[in-house]
Amino acid sequence: MIDCCELAPPHVRAIAPYQPGKPVSELAREFGLPEAAIVKLASNENPLGPSPLALAAAQDALVDMALYPDGAGFALKAKLSARLGVTHDQIVLGNGSNDVLDIAAQAFLSPQTSSVHAQHAFAVYPIATQTVGARSIEVPAKDYGHDLAAMRAAIRDDTRVVWIANPNNPTGTFLPWGEIEAFLETVPRQVLVVLDEAYGEYLPPADRCDTAAWLARFPNLLITRTFSKAYGLAGLRVGYGLGHPDVIDLMNRVRHPFNVNLPALAAAEAALDDGEFLARSYALNTAGMAQLTAGLAELGVGTVPSKGNFLLAKVGDAARINLELLKRGVIVRPVANYGLPEFLRVSVGLAGQNARFLDALKASL
Ligand SMILES: *Cc1c(COP(=O)(O)O)cnc(C)c1O
Repeated sequence: MIDCCELAPPHVRAIAPYQPGKPVSELAREFGLPEAAIVKLASNENPLGPSPLALAAAQDALVDMALYPDGAGFALKAKLSARLGVTHDQIVLGNGSNDVLDIAAQAFLSPQTSSVHAQHAFAVYPIATQTVGARSIEVPAKDYGHDLAAMRAAIRDDTRVVWIANPNNPTGTFLPWGEIEAFLETVPRQVLVVLDEAYGEYLPPADRCDTAAWLARFPNLLITRTFSKAYGLAGLRVGYGLGHPDVIDLMNRVRHPFNVNLPALAAAEAALDDGEFLARSYALNTAGMAQLTAGLAELGVGTVPSKGNFLLAKVGDAARINLELLKRGVIVRPVANYGLPEFLRVSVGLAGQNARFLDALKASL
């Protein structure tokens, strides 16, 4: 390793890099396949693409690309504020919600502190923690999901952040909101609880909860949401956090002044107005999840019940099966880096894409 890297902080050199889904273009190059023949179900993207309203708004915004975007994101915050019953000073915008998670780590963690997350939880939590030199405490999972009692017990004097994803990625596991509410009651107020709701829009109505209403009772709660999944704007990068004004104020000091770009702001505003698209995304996901669950059961492949737009399939030698799927032009996500070497995570796609995956899997097993 070259000298300047050798001398980089050990906590940076120790970070396990985030492993994204393989891009279609990369598989096409590697296996000499035409891009059109490839199905990617690896990044929990919306198979419907973006809302047409969001696409039009982003296109309209491009003529102003010589200008800086509104660094305060006033118009988007106004829409969120009206919809969610929070004030502008309770909202922080991010370049994807990943950015919001990073900003939280930068604002609340330091080398003398620790954060707590669950085994098999979203990989960004330890990365964000370790990037700022803090210590990650990983708590063993219970039934692939978060064990809140064990997470509460893992909080130490130096713990400043607890990360919870509900539903969690890559497992799709879901905690009843009452359990999270009870957890919040017991967490010391000097610990920020980050509640990551990236897949909230995919929850069936009976499982939804107005967690923003909790902010009045829990000043140490930060809720994160994204336009990347059900809203179909992953490529534009826009998400947000909701919290106490003091929490948001600290985060706004750390974030880049223009962290959400111009077309992203415009598209997110328009996406919020496209209820029809959101309903279609939800319905497609419900049908696709049923198709995948039934298809996998037929193949004798076990699954972990999921409330997201993806599903863990227990295929055994996942590295081998993954390679077989790639050869057949199907990209899913290996999750050995999450401590799940027997599983592949498959995102719910269009009916034809789901069928392609199931056929390729059948041939691969
Ligand atoms: C996808 C995802 C996110 C957010 O991604 P962004 O595109 O950065 O908004 C956050 N948390 C979880 C658990 C996710 O799966």
